[in-house]
Amino acid sequence: MSAVIINGTQLRDDIVAELRAEIEAAGSPPVCLATVLVGDDKPSQIYVRSKQKKAAEAGMQSRHVAISGDVSQAELEDTVAALVADPGVHGILCQLPLPGDLDAEPLLRMIPAEKDVDGLTEASLGRLVRGQRGHVGCTPLGVMRLLERYNIPTSGKRAVVVGRSTLVGLPMVLLLGRKGVDATVTLAHSRTTDLVDVCRQADIIVAAAGQARMITAAHVKPGATVIDVGVSRTESGIVGDVDFEPVSQIAGAITPMPGGTGPMTIACLLQNTLEAARMQGAFPA
Ligand code: NDP
Repeated sequence: MSAVIINGTQLRDDIVAELRAEIEAAGSPPVCLATVLVGDDKPSQIYVRSKQKKAAEAGMQSRHVAISGDVSQAELEDTVAALVADPGVHGILCQLPLPGDLDAEPLLRMIPAEKDVDGLTEASLGRLVRGQRGHVGCTPLGVMRLLERYNIPTSGKRAVVVGRSTLVGLPMVLLLGRKGVDATVTLAHSRTTDLVDVCRQADIIVAAAGQARMITAAHVKPGATVIDVGVSRTESGIVGDVDFEPVSQIAGAITPMPGGTGPMTIACLLQNTLEAARMQGAFPA
């Protein structure tokens, strides 16, 4: 039996339409996302452009700052400081990684939790751990939205997250293990010795390792939900961490790559931006 295909593009479009309706219903107050892109990395340019395009579709403003890759750390920090101080900017996203020797850490430290729509700063991660109001990383949040939309049960279920980055894996573990979600979560990484066995026990697998097609049919329990976060550029194009064709014959539900978690990352960025405007008193609660 073939798995249900979890359609992230459709859900993204639904969320963008809902955000637009919500903003229009509030009289279209300005809600502004600022993006900072350093250097000329093509994939980063494409990501940022699609974020701006979807922001416009959601009825939001976007302010884009494109900076040459030879900018100094001090100049870059001044640019971010100006966005931090600007009350007309509600969310700030610095496209990472930065080129060359530029250091993202000081930039992240400058962004207040309210404007940190990427959910990457110490303050945002601390709020997530403590269950306080704040922005949660867009990719793990997008995974949760997909599970909710497709009514995938989580309470008492076993989930395995493959990958332990602060961008994806760690917040994913926290979200799945939260009260109310209530999965029993295992965190796997490159030193996990029995990954096939660990994964085969899971009702939900979230693969975020960045290793092309590493999750095979052997890793998957029949009927499990398989969420593919990984993105690898190969000679045959962009592929995920999941070997889609054979796994989709075993899984109960599966995200495609592309068309699964990627579009949801953008949808959640826009949801976070509206929430950022709310947290700053620029949008009705
Ligand atoms: P990182 O490189 O920061 O982390 C990768 C993690 O995977 C590490 O914890 C690493 O373990 C683990 N890992 C690597 N190889 C293996 C392996 N063979 N078995 C088990 N675990 C392994 O990556 P990110 O978290 O930033 O991103 C992960 C992937 O998700 C990338 O492909 C990235 O491009 C993609 N991505 C996709 C997004 C989307 O919207 N779909 C958004 C963001 C990222 P260890 O800690 O031991 O080194």
